[in-house]
Amino acid sequence: MKKIAILGSTGSIGTQTLEVVRENKDIEVLALSAGSNITLLEKQIREFRPRLAAVWDEEKAKELRLMTADLDVKVATGMDGLVRTAVMEGTEILVTAIVGMIGIRPTIEAIRAGKDIALANKETLVTAGHIIMPLARERDVSILPVDSEHSAIFQSLQGNERKAVRKILLTASGGPFRGKKQEDLLNIRVEDALRHPNWSMGQKITIDSSTMVNKGLEVIEAKWLFDVEVDQIQVVVQPQSIIHSMVEYEDGAVMAQLGTPDMKLPIQYALYYPQRRYLPGERLDFWRLGRLDFEEPDMDTFYALSLAYEAGRAGGTLPTVFNAANELAVRKFLNREIKYLEITEIIEDCMRAHTNIMNPTLEEILETETKVYERIESRR
Ligand code: NAD
Ligand code: MG
Repeated sequence: MKKIAILGSTGSIGTQTLEVVRENKDIEVLALSAGSNITLLEKQIREFRPRLAAVWDEEKAKELRLMTADLDVKVATGMDGLVRTAVMEGTEILVTAIVGMIGIRPTIEAIRAGKDIALANKETLVTAGHIIMPLARERDVSILPVDSEHSAIFQSLQGNERKAVRKILLTASGGPFRGKKQEDLLNIRVEDALRHPNWSMGQKITIDSSTMVNKGLEVIEAKWLFDVEVDQIQVVVQPQSIIHSMVEYEDGAVMAQLGTPDMKLPIQYALYYPQRRYLPGERLDFWRLGRLDFEEPDMDTFYALSLAYEAGRAGGTLPTVFNAANELAVRKFLNREIKYLEITEIIEDCMRAHTNIMNPTLEEILETETKVYERIESRR
């Protein structure tokens, strides 16, 4: 039995991870954690019987303790709960399916405790990749990508020499507003931005996909995972989301991973790597598919992507500014406090106002996040 823990078990990646666990029957879940959805968390506890469950919200944790009083499960809360999930005794892999840079501390603690990381929580690598990657190497811990593009790159690297990699071709669907111009995006409502053409995901990443911030975060994520320069990463729009990403080698060969859009494949690949297992689901039918299309991304309309390249090139605390500004701006957009185009405007404003700190400590990263939040709150 493989033993795992999950940060963010009630979300899109978390629930799909549990589906993979359910179908395979040889993984034991020792710890689960969620933000506030204790109704679903209780169901998950009753089905998977973890020893520990963590809930961010204190009041909800109290409620969950009562709801699970008949079971042998400890309920923890806050950052302490996340860290205890991350370092849970006996686990081999931590699945980081939590959203946002709140995942940094528990991820670092898990690596210190020698756990492999099945990483979905890209915000953590974007902001603290320079701490996480060397630490993982030092502790001989594997960082296994769950993000579909990064899993595709990882799969396309198997059996090839890393030093022969010339370019990473990171594919993008283009999101719901592909082909639109700034003036078409003035009055975008939350419902419009939440309508992704190919993937069903959590709200934050769905908004990020529409602004291309998600692709920007993925460029920086790929830089850390595969040890390449951001300018070796080329974004290719592939509207059908069939090619999940590609690697170009020195001799001109391009290796790609294709499949129907289903996150269970990269999740399962990360959990069982290097093994491949049967996965039920739709298969690609090339006769029916007929064609695949490719485009260059429109970095003038979706200039968040070029801001991400700028942040990724500069390094230091600038990727934290990019990410933190986006996290708060997206929350405000979802709460209908700001307009759609303000998301990217806010990111740019925060980046322009920032004095970069190179090689920041965890404290400096978190201070940068606080300062960015203060700046956004003091607007107008
Ligand atoms: P989601 O919003 O559906 O789920 C987030 C999970 O994190 C939930 O379980 C929630 O309870 C938990 N959470 C949020 N705040 C918390 C807090 N303060 N304390 C404890 N738990 C908290 O998000 P998602 O779409 O599953 O995305 C998760 C991560 O995976 C993100 O970083 C995202 O970018 C990445 N990712 C998601 C997909 C996808 O298909 N959904 C694909 C690639 C990458
Ligand atoms: Mg992705």
